[in-house]
Amino acid sequence: MGLLEGKTALIFGLANKNSIAWGVAQAFKREGATIGISYAGEILKRRVEPLAESIGCDFVEECDVSKDEDIESVVAKAKKRFGKIDILVHSIGFANRDELRGPFYNTSREGFHLAMDISVYSFVALARAFQPLMNPGGAILTMTYAGSVKVTPNYNVMGIAKAALEASTRYLAYDFGKQNVRVNAISAGPIRTLAAAGVGGFKTMYKAFEEMAPLHENITTEDVGNAAIFLSSDLSARTTGEVFYVDSGYNIMGVPGMGIE
Ligand code: NAD
Repeated sequence: MGLLEGKTALIFGLANKNSIAWGVAQAFKREGATIGISYAGEILKRRVEPLAESIGCDFVEECDVSKDEDIESVVAKAKKRFGKIDILVHSIGFANRDELRGPFYNTSREGFHLAMDISVYSFVALARAFQPLMNPGGAILTMTYAGSVKVTPNYNVMGIAKAALEASTRYLAYDFGKQNVRVNAISAGPIRTLAAAGVGGFKTMYKAFEEMAPLHENITTEDVGNAAIFLSSDLSARTTGEVFYVDSGYNIMGVPGMGIE
């Protein structure tokens, strides 16, 4: 019997087969969950629908998380279709490309607001909107990156957004604890996705990561999916408000090994 048998999961943030959301969807499918998928807009539809179909998912809904009415509409459809849900996954982030290169102090007011709205507030808004639908024993997950706690050149405003996202995870964990729903964040190492391609110098960072991480391997969306199973299943029944690193151990390093024996 799968670890998520009998559970219903809604996954937000599928863009294509490289998306972290796709690694999560496949892992959840393997463990027996019923899956619903949401994507940002019309332009992604032709990529997302065949993927959803390939895992037998027929709840595929468009939702631009910057629009309250879109969120309300997905909640209403999910309620009609599933009644209650057990797992909510937020795998969404966005900042303008110009904000993801050069000095952080060049961040515009508008760019700052946009990154915070799409990458952070949307997590709070989705959690609130789905709150009445969450079954006790359920789990809410978001995706973060270690640029929240240490400087990653060019990550800039997204680092600030991820710090706020991780703090939001803790505050939501407190709120949702009352209904026995857990809220956690997965901090993934760099993965080649659409979102990552927007960060200046990503390729160089990707290579350096492999050299510096204790396990000397870059991580995959499958690795994130497997961690998401743990954090969404009863295996982690007493874990909430945490940032769970899936990064080949990169975050523990203070100085690169550089071949020192
Ligand atoms: P991705 O581009 O596949 O996913 C990002 C998703 O955000 C896309 O599906 C996009 O459509 C969605 N999105 C953007 N604006 C939206 C809006 N207004 N409404 C609804 N959806 C919107 O890239 P990914 O790397 O899979 O990113 C998923 C999450 O993982 C992000 O939060 C990202 O910051 C985080 N993350 C990524 C990495 C990495 O290296 N790829 C590492 C750690 C954390």
